[in-house]
Amino acid sequence: MADTAQADAGARVPAAEVLAAFESATGFMPVDEGLALYAAAAGAAAATGLPLLEVGSYCGRSTILLADAARQAGTVALTVDHHRGSEEQQPGWEYHDASLVDPEVGLMDTLPRFRRTLHAAGLEQHVIALVGRSPQVAAVWGGQLGLVFVDGGHTDEHATADYEGWVPHLAPEGLLVIHDVFPDPADGGQAPYRIYLRALAEGFAEVSAHGSLRVLRRR
Ligand code: SAH
Ligand code: MG
Repeated sequence: MADTAQADAGARVPAAEVLAAFESATGFMPVDEGLALYAAAAGAAAATGLPLLEVGSYCGRSTILLADAARQAGTVALTVDHHRGSEEQQPGWEYHDASLVDPEVGLMDTLPRFRRTLHAAGLEQHVIALVGRSPQVAAVWGGQLGLVFVDGGHTDEHATADYEGWVPHLAPEGLLVIHDVFPDPADGGQAPYRIYLRALAEGFAEVSAHGSLRVLRRR
């Protein structure tokens, strides 16, 4: 069954209104990589019927795609974020968006924008938002997952913790998807690339690559 789902994966595309909601959402997922993420998510959801997990909800841009893929298969998307932003999103850094600071608290808070994004896309009921630190949530999580999508913190500490925390929950026929994989250091940070290499060394094989998105499954 998994092979059939994999063969079908290239044919899976989001409906026009889902794609439009994704394209208008705040975030860091390019459209072509989003389409590849959607195809992987839809294939994994159809093949396993299990929840799809994302690390790094931010404002819900990629979550829209996982939510719609989950909805089609009768499952849910789980998405983990402390909603305080990664290092590079803090004030003074390259990816800071001042409109995402909670003025009362004085810290980043992407949860309100995330909730508006999922509401506007009509996909709220297909998403379970887990607000917390990825390793802490992974440590108490008990269920199996059809897909693990790693798009959280970009330090080695965070990327490694995401890999070590969530891969043990991935079903044998599930998919591991990693974003921001840059083999050339000139293109970006190396932490996601290092967990990608580790996955290859620990029994995963590459299914496909689109931009900086890598889709892997167990050999
Ligand atoms: N997937 C999003 C982008 C995610 S940006 C999109 O498509 O646009 C990375 C996110 O990871 C940030 O929102 C940050 O708050 C979150 N993050 C970073 N380290 C984390 C950790 N250890 N636990 C939970 N969330 C984390
Ligand atoms: Mg990313």
